[in-house]
Amino acid sequence: MLYFVERVNNMVESKNLCRGKIPRRTFLKGSAAMLALGAAWLEGGFWLSKVTADPGKTANEEVITYGVCRGDCLGHCPMRVHVRDGHLVKTSKLSHPIPEFERICQRGLTHVQRIYAPDRLLHPLRRAGKRGEGKWEQITWEEAIAEICTKWKSYQQEFGPESIAFSDCAGNSAIDSRPYTKRLFNLMGSVRIDNSFDNSFFSGIIDSVGESSWSVGDDERNLLSAKYIFAWGSNLTEAGHVHYAFINKAKDLGAKLIVIDPNYTIAASKADKFVPIRPGTDAVLAMSMLHVAIAEKLTDKEMLERGTVAPFLVKESDGMFLRLSDLGRAEKGAADAIVVRGADGQIGLPSEIAVPVLQGTFEVQGHRVTTAYDLLVERVQEWTPERAAEICDIPAATIRELARMYAKGPTTLCAGYGPDHYANGQQFYYAVMALVLATGQIGRPGAGLNGHAMSSFLENYADIDDIVTPPDGKQGPVINAPLVPEAIKAGKYGDMPLNIKSLYVYDQNLLGNQTHRTAWLEALEHIDLFVVADVTMNDTSRYADIVLPVAHYFETDTYDMSYSGVAVYNAKAVEPLGEAKGDFEIVNMLGCGMGMADKFSLSRDEFFRKALDNEKARAVGLSWEKLKQEGYIYTLKPETPIYMHGAKYEFPTDTKRGEFYRENVAPVADVGKAFDKKREALPCWNPPYEAWQVDVPGFPRSEAAAKYPLVFTSKRPKFRVHTQYSSNPWLLELWKEPVVTFHPHDAEKRGIRTGDVVKIFNDRGYVVVKAAINPANRPGVLVIDHGWQKDDFIDGHYSDLSSNKSDVMVTNNAFFDCVVEAVKQ
Ligand code: SF4
Repeated sequence: MLYFVERVNNMVESKNLCRGKIPRRTFLKGSAAMLALGAAWLEGGFWLSKVTADPGKTANEEVITYGVCRGDCLGHCPMRVHVRDGHLVKTSKLSHPIPEFERICQRGLTHVQRIYAPDRLLHPLRRAGKRGEGKWEQITWEEAIAEICTKWKSYQQEFGPESIAFSDCAGNSAIDSRPYTKRLFNLMGSVRIDNSFDNSFFSGIIDSVGESSWSVGDDERNLLSAKYIFAWGSNLTEAGHVHYAFINKAKDLGAKLIVIDPNYTIAASKADKFVPIRPGTDAVLAMSMLHVAIAEKLTDKEMLERGTVAPFLVKESDGMFLRLSDLGRAEKGAADAIVVRGADGQIGLPSEIAVPVLQGTFEVQGHRVTTAYDLLVERVQEWTPERAAEICDIPAATIRELARMYAKGPTTLCAGYGPDHYANGQQFYYAVMALVLATGQIGRPGAGLNGHAMSSFLENYADIDDIVTPPDGKQGPVINAPLVPEAIKAGKYGDMPLNIKSLYVYDQNLLGNQTHRTAWLEALEHIDLFVVADVTMNDTSRYADIVLPVAHYFETDTYDMSYSGVAVYNAKAVEPLGEAKGDFEIVNMLGCGMGMADKFSLSRDEFFRKALDNEKARAVGLSWEKLKQEGYIYTLKPETPIYMHGAKYEFPTDTKRGEFYRENVAPVADVGKAFDKKREALPCWNPPYEAWQVDVPGFPRSEAAAKYPLVFTSKRPKFRVHTQYSSNPWLLELWKEPVVTFHPHDAEKRGIRTGDVVKIFNDRGYVVVKAAINPANRPGVLVIDHGWQKDDFIDGHYSDLSSNKSDVMVTNNAFFDCVVEAVKQ
């Protein structure tokens, strides 16, 4: 820890200073602040510290500010931040008028140890050895910014603005960090690397039902009216802490919880019915359930007619909807409305046809057309429960039972990220949304979408579009992370030349969380200047050429909106440790360094005042000044009407309807690869690239699985969110080290017992870790808790095992589409 605190001969080595290799108290030695903390600790707790930061205050007097936990669990829980003598000593829950929202989790209770984390970065550092070697030279902020900007300017001059790339995620994210940094790269014309986490999830759901200020889900309170809750690929008890409080209450009120997951999870242990599905086959189960709903006439006619694209007429010639212009009644363009057909053959606007036909193929003025619903019915025809049973390894009778429950409703779907983590992940979300729409389980009490990530982006009332995307910005290209390592090595992304000389990573532990870490490490060899701005020394910052220490959000004045609708003035509770600075200040310094001082002169206060100076904020009584006075404002109260996505048959899509047929289907990352438009316009399925372990007629086992028979997956634990909190000593006391779990049959076959050290490997890499036997695993599937970093493993890294393979339609991190073998060491 010492090296982050004091300059030791201008150069220090960190290789003996890794977490777990020195005792906690050694970490606590260091800067004056840390010395004070260490003393406080030894005396029995921070609260006994003799240091008084504010001479106006009595020693030990507690000051409470408010903040929002940005755990990237998407909870954004509001909390009280307790400070004594200039030190953060505790976090506690903030009251909420809706009782289920009044909670924080074990991670939120440990911010003290995130602020005073053993791997906290305190000073700008310049690499002094080889990349990743851990040798650093402490430099000043002025030196760091000057070096970065001098090199950036020279790259821009020699190779163009696209020679600099930025990569982010949701690490320390609030509007003053990630969005504000976008202002910088938008003005520089730099490349933005889309992290591509969960693209399958978002593509499938947003394409189907559109995105509102509530994202794609309902107000949590709608769960309390559900009779069935389908947690599909979602370990809600661990990862969706806030959502699960509502599910628990719904269960008390009589709702049945159905959990669909390859492995028996903690969520599964709470379920009324657990369905252990074969990995990567969720789309087939959804299509088969829809097949049953159609065959047994369990679909919702009114929703199909009024709320979906079902009656729209699809032209056989080009797959587009029939419009007025096709009939010579309008010019092509924005006002060119889609038409439907009545039972009497009349063609007109949906508003003109009282009861549109849902099925049939017709000739309309020389156009051969079929209703979109007919195409969907035809598409799911092959997925009889018996056929799906072979693929999904679920009895046909269970599939029928699930379909009947789902369609009867009211049913809320809590789809998680599990099915997303395959190269074919998007296929599930398109398929399940077709089921949701056709059965009308959306937009009414108890019927809808909820759970982890479904409704996590509640309107935050801040309008910063003009700041993030200034009219005079250059806006460089966006490229997708899983394709980047190869693209960097090849010097082109699709047909676009790519010559990245500098990579700036912020709000993201890229090398701890992206798939195929070794490919990224190789790609980094082609990068001249790798800059990482982060709060801690982690898997990514350790490889940087320059590290910029970022303040924890309780060390800055900021604004955030909790998931539960509390607008919070997150006042600076404590001074940033060491020389750490907020992302906002860092961006301003970089902007000035790049010669744009006039564009990067906003103070935090001006930024937030401007951001909240808009009609939407005013409508809920929100302004920066008011927030600063009051600390927090509830925008969601018991009397607030319950938001239901798709209510009144209205969806925020291009057609204003639920879309299970996509006339404008296109790849999310278009790198010029061909795709079958007719196939992709509707739900479809192909096996995972690697994680397909069985020979089923029509779908032979993957070549990779023939060589490596075990599917390697991870699951979300309650002790961390990705790699956030992973160095938190309190949480590490509860969950000390990574363990890979085996089904007893798989372990026995390999002579592996609990406690053995095993090597998990494939052609891409390996990880050495302790084993445990767990009958909760599906046979043939290995599970490791997500969020560990390089130093936590005995050797290797689990991110070295996964691949960057992507489906042509959606470029996504396919974490679970990965096969391995295991041997005892
Ligand atoms: S980690 Fe998530 S659930 Fe826990 S307190 Fe933070 S935001 Fe809330």
